[in-house]
Amino acid sequence: MSSVSLSQISKHYLAGQPVLDGINLHIEDGEFVVFVGPSGSGKSTLLRMIAGLEEVTEGEIFIGDQRATDLPAAQRGLAMVFQSYALYPHMSVRDNMGFALRMAGEPPEAIARRVDRAARLLQIEPLLDRRPKALSGGQRQRVAIGRAIVREPRVFLFDEPLSNLDAALRQTMRVEIAKLHRDLGATMIYVTHDQVEAMTLADRIAVFDRGAVQQVGTPAELYRRPCNLFVAGFLGSPRMNFLDARLVHAEPGRAELDLPGLGRVTVAADLAGHAAGEPLTLGVRPEHLRIDVAAGLPATVELVEYLGDHQLAHVGLGDGGPRLCLKLPPHELTVAPGAAVRLGFAAEDGRVFDSRGRAVGAGA
Ligand code: ADP
Ligand code: MG
Repeated sequence: MSSVSLSQISKHYLAGQPVLDGINLHIEDGEFVVFVGPSGSGKSTLLRMIAGLEEVTEGEIFIGDQRATDLPAAQRGLAMVFQSYALYPHMSVRDNMGFALRMAGEPPEAIARRVDRAARLLQIEPLLDRRPKALSGGQRQRVAIGRAIVREPRVFLFDEPLSNLDAALRQTMRVEIAKLHRDLGATMIYVTHDQVEAMTLADRIAVFDRGAVQQVGTPAELYRRPCNLFVAGFLGSPRMNFLDARLVHAEPGRAELDLPGLGRVTVAADLAGHAAGEPLTLGVRPEHLRIDVAAGLPATVELVEYLGDHQLAHVGLGDGGPRLCLKLPPHELTVAPGAAVRLGFAAEDGRVFDSRGRAVGAGA
């Protein structure tokens, strides 16, 4: 197993149009790091550069202590699992899994031992003599993962490995991959656009947008303390609510904001040094909004979605003001479309962003 270090990595396909710009990231030996971000944000490009499948325009890649920037893919000791399984249709599962080892000239007994061990880990032993066409999508993806395991790579690279599977199977495979990481103790880098996969699998998440890493941290750090509006809006479903605000008054650890046309709210943010009147954005997650708070913000319920274990209320603030989403327990009786309510939230649950979208006043 190995660490991976990325230093000032940039990638241009066309001169002057960076697809990735100045990426710095250190991935510890044995760590599970997820690259998450919208489509086109550069995640696959970076993974392919680590794999040696894409040239590095600028910067350095280290795998363990070894400088790998110009090393051919085959010499990096990595194994990659793609969204498409890319299995050989005319070979059995056993032969598919052992193929790379046979090419490398490993002795047959060693290949058999490693294939059997991987098949046991992935619970695909009964499938070893089948051809890929006799397997379900989930089974094929297990074989593709097995093919990576038998190579005993220094680092596993996954690019959206579950995106072709249906929702139920994705959930099962997610748990399997988490277990595999625990059992193998291997370094894993996993690309996905799915924030649930990112939150559940990662030791640390790197959030990508437009070719740059916006923030790196544990799932809880990113959820509780997003560094900017992009990260705040990307992680969490339904997404964080955002409202235009102006600073009224700041004191240590506490600030009063005016929400134009709606009223004032208090947040536990340290905005000393910010001028009264400064335009800000207030962010509150759906699960942090409470209804029927005395002297809360006036709102009208527009739509309620019942989801069994919770319900989502969509409300309009004030008179034709912005819309917010609230996540409520399923037994909350007071919400029905058309109902007038008053909204509030705990001061600790309000996030504040400046006019450039950067989180301010955190740490309070
Ligand atoms: P992601 O995996 O986050 O969806 P990609 O890394 O695939 O994003 O792509 C990042 C950007 O690089 C996109 O704008 C994409 O169009 C561009 N890109 C990817 N491959 C090439 C290529 N071979 N030539 C030119 N542009 C490319
Ligand atoms: Mg991609």
